[in-house]
Amino acid sequence: MERIYLDHAATTPTDPRVVEVMLPYFTEVFGNPSGIYQEGRAGKKAIDESREKVARLLGAADFREIIFTGSGSEADNLAISGVAWANRGKGNHIITSSIEHHAVLNTCKHLEKYGFTVTYLPVDKYGMVAPEAVREAITDRTILVSLMHANNEVGTVQPIAEISKIVHEKGVLFHTDAVQTVGSIPLHLKELGVDLLSLSAHKFYGPKGVGALYVKKGTRLSRLIHGGAQERQLRAGTENVAGIVGLAKALELAITELEENNSRLVEFRDYFINELMSRIDRVKLNGHPTKRLPGNVNVSFEFVEGESILLILDLKGIAASSGSACTSGSLDPSHVLLAMGLSHEVAHGSIRLSIGRENTKTQLDYVCGVLEEGVARLREMSPLYQARARKERSV
Ligand SMILES: *Cc1c(COP(=O)(O)O)cnc(C)c1O
Repeated sequence: MERIYLDHAATTPTDPRVVEVMLPYFTEVFGNPSGIYQEGRAGKKAIDESREKVARLLGAADFREIIFTGSGSEADNLAISGVAWANRGKGNHIITSSIEHHAVLNTCKHLEKYGFTVTYLPVDKYGMVAPEAVREAITDRTILVSLMHANNEVGTVQPIAEISKIVHEKGVLFHTDAVQTVGSIPLHLKELGVDLLSLSAHKFYGPKGVGALYVKKGTRLSRLIHGGAQERQLRAGTENVAGIVGLAKALELAITELEENNSRLVEFRDYFINELMSRIDRVKLNGHPTKRLPGNVNVSFEFVEGESILLILDLKGIAASSGSACTSGSLDPSHVLLAMGLSHEVAHGSIRLSIGRENTKTQLDYVCGVLEEGVARLREMSPLYQARARKERSV
């Protein structure tokens, strides 16, 4: 049976055109980029060219503002811990939101053990942070605001440009986790106005295990990994040359083809949401109705367990998730959905289907049918739903 992959927010397949440009860097061009001989210089050149390409595609002022890392998580860690420790003399207060990825949340929690204080801003029912709440939270001890560009579970896109103006009026540094938006929606560093921005290659059809942090010129940062002088002394370790080349190529392809992919994904997303809403009762769309990622569908089905739906989907050849790859396997409901005000019960009945480049409308029609049938079957077995149905029939 053909598998249907609908978990692109967790990871994407590497584009064959990306794999092709990576291959020589495993075999022929293997020299250590720190070497002064020809083999090393070839690796160094590939990294330099990739750095320039990424800087240009994101609209950075200088190629030196791009620091390659081992993942999006590492970029988030470097941004937050890096700013925190480098600015310890100025203050100890960090502002973030309650719906961030765990790479941000757990870094902040860790820093709390070392004397930093963290404000976790609430969100509205759509998962939106209020810009004015950011202004009110800033004190003269605040050194960093870190807010994600788009949420990985519900797809809500935050007004980052508006918030960065407020943060800069107060003279505070601003980091955004843009792992879900780079290569997915139009993004320009000058328009966003942030000081630091995280991205990860495997979310835009590049390889896993490589990411980058944009660090605006003049931003003071402490390193996480000590050792050699790679990445402007911010990240020691022999570079993942193939991965870096792959990241740059994947970003180039994603941005060149963004408009075309985007309009198709938005059309598919809205079609799919409408189909679900009209064919299944007691379904709720989570996240903002319009300010959301092109491929993101996050829905709650009342009276069913999300995990049960996911099992049915998997048996029918469909890969989807309950929201976040990091929390699946644990029985805790999503911290994002709870922060948006969903009850534990409804949060448990939520699933995320994230559509990607290679999905077709025929696939989505099939998935809709499987969901309709699966949800009906699960509700037949739910005493709560049956009692509710009886009650509604009797009135
Ligand atoms: C996937 C993701 C990350 C982590 O990126 P990795 O490269 O998998 O470490 C961080 N933030 C967001 C919003 C993500 O979606």
